Amino acid sequence: MKRILVTGGYGLVGNGIQSVSKNYNYEFIFVCSKDYNLLSMGETIQMFKDHQPNMIIHLAACVGGLYKNMNDKVQMLEQNLMINYNVVKCAHDFGVEKMVACLSTCIFPDKVSYPIEENMLHNGPPHDSNYAYAYAKRMLEIHCRTYREQYGDNFICVTPTNIYGHHDNFSLEDGHVLPALIHKCYLAKEKGIDFIVRGSGKPLRQFIYSEDLARLIMFVLENVSEDNIILSVPESEEKSIEEIARIIARNYDYEDNVVFDSSYSDGQYKKTVSNDKINALLFNDFQFTPIEEGIKKSVEWFIQYKKK
Ligand code: NAP
Ligand code: GDP
Repeated sequence: MKRILVTGGYGLVGNGIQSVSKNYNYEFIFVCSKDYNLLSMGETIQMFKDHQPNMIIHLAACVGGLYKNMNDKVQMLEQNLMINYNVVKCAHDFGVEKMVACLSTCIFPDKVSYPIEENMLHNGPPHDSNYAYAYAKRMLEIHCRTYREQYGDNFICVTPTNIYGHHDNFSLEDGHVLPALIHKCYLAKEKGIDFIVRGSGKPLRQFIYSEDLARLIMFVLENVSEDNIILSVPESEEKSIEEIARIIARNYDYEDNVVFDSSYSDGQYKKTVSNDKINALLFNDFQFTPIEEGIKKSVEWFIQYKKK
């Protein structure tokens, strides 16, 4: 049976892959930073020696929401460059037959035509708020491409939109908008105070549920040898931050208490992507979890496991 090594295997997306893995006929190995610190080339080599993977889903990264990207630029750049350099180089040196590595739609140019398509990745500078993370991730795409072109390695990149689900990072300061707001609304209701949403609420985002993304990643691993594929919900499912905040608040029955604090940055106004390329490749109609249902499940998971 073929072995798939999943780096970042205990994060948001890694847990999504864990949930769907029982439906696939592979031996999955999930690793996190406590198993191997991928900032170290020595530990990365040890991971490949220990597990001898046939395939890799490379998810490990230094990840965070808008405000972490603005506050921790050096970490976002250095850690992502180092982790990706070590993993991609070892994947080649150990003869991995297929690797799917993870980019993000927030690394596309700030000034771009919509909807964004795969071939626009390097057409201009990213948004100022996350350029450190964005340039490090862009180098991951370049690194995979060089190995594809020079050595014929089957290393490809997938580019998901904003992701959410169980096992998300619910940090108030560092988390992405959806988990941060799930946590903030919980606290606001508990204390009987306003539910404060940062920025104007006007920016638009496309959110994909972690298990839907996991199924798409498995599809790409098994069926696709393109260089870079955007994995997204349809454009019609784009939502404003205000809509997201109100859906969250409804789950707590706290909708009358939503307040926007526009002293905070809005970040990029929108980064609408097209999912045409992946849709053209999928064999059947792919069913996405409706955002209301995904948020309900995420709120329930947060209340059960994370509220303390
Ligand atoms: P996450 O929940 O923060 O998980 C990150 C994973 O990376 C964790 O398992 C973590 O290990 C591991 N990791 C971090 N530093 C490491 C190190 N030095 N050595 C080994 N492992 C390390 O992230 P995620 O949201 O699942 O993101 C997965 C991928 O999707 C990333 O490549 C990210 O850039 C991309 N992405 C995420 C989003 C989003 O909205 N979340 C959107 C687009 C793309 P520990 O568990 O030990 O900390
Ligand atoms: P992005 O999609 O890469 O920009 O990252 P985020 O997931 O952090 O979403 C940022 C958007 O959500 C911005 O428009 C923020 O103003 C808005 N937002 C509102 N409240 C919060 C919050 O508590 N945390 C975060 N991260 N973003 C928030």
